[in-house]
Amino acid sequence: MDVLYLVVPCYNEEPVLPDTSAKLLTKMESLIKSEKISPDSRIVFVNDGSKDKTWEIISELHTQNKMFQGVKLSRNRGHQNALLAGLMTVMEHCDITISLDADLQDDINAIDEMVDKYHEGCEVVYGVRSARDTDTFFKKFTAEGFYKIMKAMGADVVFNHADYRLMSRKALEGMREFEEVNLFLRGVVPMVGYKSDSVYYERKERLAGESKYPLKKMLAFAWEGITSLSTKPIKLISAAGAVIFLVSIVMLIYSLCSHFFGYTEAGWTSVMVSVWAIGGLQLLAIGIIGEYIGKVYLESKHRPKFIVEKYLSDEDK
Ligand code: UDP
Ligand code: MG
Repeated sequence: MDVLYLVVPCYNEEPVLPDTSAKLLTKMESLIKSEKISPDSRIVFVNDGSKDKTWEIISELHTQNKMFQGVKLSRNRGHQNALLAGLMTVMEHCDITISLDADLQDDINAIDEMVDKYHEGCEVVYGVRSARDTDTFFKKFTAEGFYKIMKAMGADVVFNHADYRLMSRKALEGMREFEEVNLFLRGVVPMVGYKSDSVYYERKERLAGESKYPLKKMLAFAWEGITSLSTKPIKLISAAGAVIFLVSIVMLIYSLCSHFFGYTEAGWTSVMVSVWAIGGLQLLAIGIIGEYIGKVYLESKHRPKFIVEKYLSDEDK
């Protein structure tokens, strides 16, 4: 039977952990009972440098029940890195992993179906939100806009799929080969390949506590995603440059004609407008190119994406 490890990144999740751990435990027990997964399966909480008692709760859970394990990162590294740290730490001990958020906004009943799909031969199973009824209009609008912009910018992401997904050990081994520092999991997983499928579920409200993704972080996340997956923004800049060049030729002809026909007047307005427009555009273009250079710079440093301080595994029982 296959060993399943649930990987749950947690950042200041003190309010939800007691409830989350109880619900996940019930789910795992029922899966074990119905012989879908091995009794050696585990629930792993990754503490992403929380400032509250999250780690104490995780350690406590681990001492009470060996079903719970904990990975402690040396500091806060953000959701994507925490998730990756968890997956990389446990991959040697299991056959399949499922990653999900600590607030259980993603329906855990979809786990059954994910495991079934794995048994049908899928190495990756994406959890896709079929409805966002409980999200506020704002969250829904920004989140769906995010997927659309990603697609338009040439980044291949699964629509309405966050980081709730099953990955087999084989898929994880594939992902480990992607050594980039600017790692954007949602974009990298489809690149790994292998047979994949999706399961659909309705997204719920957060159990307790508040979202760790305010608008500022969401925008930063979207920008990270676009610039680490695609170079389309640079191409757009070149395209804009070409268009402006064409316009300038037209303007040149127009100015020369005006000059020879003697219509030259104080063209103050048009000059001002073009100076500002072109100046702004140039700054924007330099900024975007700078963003990519910054990324190259970070990649060249080969910094570790995370540092595991402690792993509460079966061994230390
Ligand atoms: N998270 C994390 N590190 C961070 C921010 C968030 O590990 O720096 C975790 C958080 O504990 C949760 C998941 O990422 O398990 C998703 O966060 P949240 O539910 O706040 O995001 P939302 O669902 O509002 O997009
Ligand atoms: Mg959430």
